[in-house]
Amino acid sequence: MARYKESVCRLCRREGLKLFLKGDRCYGEKCAFERRGYAPGEHGQLRRKQQSDYGVQLREKQKLKRMYGLLEKQFKGYFEKADRKKGITGTNLLLYLERRLDNMVYRLGFANSRNEARQLVRHNHFTVNGKKVNIPSYLVDIGDAIEITEASRTNNKIIEAMETVARRGVPQWLELEQENFKGKVKMFPTREELTMPIQEQLVVELYSK
Ligand code: SF4
Repeated sequence: MARYKESVCRLCRREGLKLFLKGDRCYGEKCAFERRGYAPGEHGQLRRKQQSDYGVQLREKQKLKRMYGLLEKQFKGYFEKADRKKGITGTNLLLYLERRLDNMVYRLGFANSRNEARQLVRHNHFTVNGKKVNIPSYLVDIGDAIEITEASRTNNKIIEAMETVARRGVPQWLELEQENFKGKVKMFPTREELTMPIQEQLVVELYSK
């Protein structure tokens, strides 16, 4: 599947926001956005032009899409599902993104980034309620238990991620049993608990045109 090939730090600099795409590095001094918080390229340090409403909405959509590492078609699919569901479309959209198995693996600290989590899920390192699941977009539910398979408990990437999870913490809607290599979805987060700086209403406006 086509994926973004450039340095992912450029994406943070372009969006003017830390997207946390590079694991533990994002939390330390080596973060490229901390060191050069302006847009990449020759004109990156010039003041950004005033954007049209469309431009602002587009940038917000790009931020969210990149944060979860999705392609346009997949992302739009989530929007359409969110729009069909009862409730606030923007919140529904965020919840669908959060419920992805790769995101849960990342949130529980079994991977250092969503991108790494996606690869680990694809390589059969996890079970959901005791069954192997290797589909990163699998939507987890309340009460589901996500566990590292026995054979994968010595995987270096997973061990390293588990050692560094304390830096970012595990959200309170999840329950981590690190000693048992598993985590559980206690509840779904409320909008207030999703603290990333995203104005999802702008994404809804963009797709509703
Ligand atoms: Fe973004 Fe992480 Fe790179 Fe910092 S280290 S610029 S947060 S991807």
